[in-house]
Amino acid sequence: MGTRPLLNRSLAGMGTTIFAEMSALATATGSINLGQGFPDTDGPAEIAEAAIRAVREGRGNQYPPGPGIPELRHAITEHQRHHYGLAYDPDREVLVTAGATEAIAASLLALLEPGDEVIAMEPFYDSYAACIAMAGATRVPLTLRAPAFRPDLDELRAKVTPRTRLLLINTPHNPTGTVLTPDELRAIAELAVERDLLVVTDEVYEHLVYGPATHHPIAALPGMRERTVSISSAGKTFSFTGWKVGWVTGSPELVAAVRTAKQYLTFVSAGPFQYAIADALRLPDGYFDGFRADLLRKRDLLADGLAAAGFEVHLPQGTYFITTDITPLGETDGLEFCRKLPERCGVVAIPNAVFYDDPEAGRSQVRWAFCKQDEVLAEAVARLRRL
Ligand code: PMP
Ligand code: GLN
Repeated sequence: MGTRPLLNRSLAGMGTTIFAEMSALATATGSINLGQGFPDTDGPAEIAEAAIRAVREGRGNQYPPGPGIPELRHAITEHQRHHYGLAYDPDREVLVTAGATEAIAASLLALLEPGDEVIAMEPFYDSYAACIAMAGATRVPLTLRAPAFRPDLDELRAKVTPRTRLLLINTPHNPTGTVLTPDELRAIAELAVERDLLVVTDEVYEHLVYGPATHHPIAALPGMRERTVSISSAGKTFSFTGWKVGWVTGSPELVAAVRTAKQYLTFVSAGPFQYAIADALRLPDGYFDGFRADLLRKRDLLADGLAAAGFEVHLPQGTYFITTDITPLGETDGLEFCRKLPERCGVVAIPNAVFYDDPEAGRSQVRWAFCKQDEVLAEAVARLRRL
């Protein structure tokens, strides 16, 4: 094997994801895990029952169709129409994927070539950097800077070069909680049209937005439908992150391109869960409103607790994460802080620095997940106050 490193050089230095590292640390130390973003309460019982029924009745136990089962593709189009007034053809404009993670990978592998540049909102979700690298393309960060974490639209415009192929956006944004405003989305869309760029938009937290902010899909803006790949997932909206049911919507040409790559990644996935998520997407509005209201209460509970414990809190407009700054506690290095936090007080969090190309930009930021039971959040806060 010689001296050549075993790992493909595009993945060099990407080791273990921060989520795996921090969840393992939480398990090993018996700490409260406010790191990796997963709820500690499963989604609706009737949706779990629908999955069990599908398994028992032999629906989805063998390879489902490549684009996803028709029931789910129809439910996705109904969801897009009901919530956003967007019309998609379930046969040609929808693709079911193994979570949003595979949708991101398949989109970037399908649409990028070596030498292409991708402008992505930084801090970025970790799989963006890995998938852009695996596609042989180059990422160009558009940094959202504290304390406001808004995109600088002049900077974005200045970053477009003849090699720019794609804008990768994420709203609501993990980890900052920024929700792009209609004006910001319009400016991004106008730039994409003017410079003939593709847009991949990760909207997995579409239903986790706290007023007065509201979620607006960029695909709805003039000139965007034919150039936008929209990505979402059942994991966050229905609290079944382990089922890994995600989807892509877009023009027939874009969906065909993404499907081509997807075929050779997983081919298909999650057969019986697809039936259950078709039911979930048709839940009445009360489900979505109730889920959001519950998380809003949890956001405020954790935000107040973190502030009382001495952190500078950046209140998120969306997602189930709060970004804080540890500087007021006399700390400077988030990674070191998070690695020691379990032994200091039995709580796990995520250092935002790992989501930046320039770790200095997020060095003192730490992210906390609030999709946990109220008593778990209260206990975490009590522990953090001892710091
Ligand atoms: N995008 C973002 C911004 C995320 O936070 C996550 C985390 N789950 C994903 C994509 C991946 O979603 P999934 O679990 O459906 O693969
Ligand atoms: N999206 C989740 C988060 O940001 C984690 C997903 C993962 O572990 N890859 O915490």
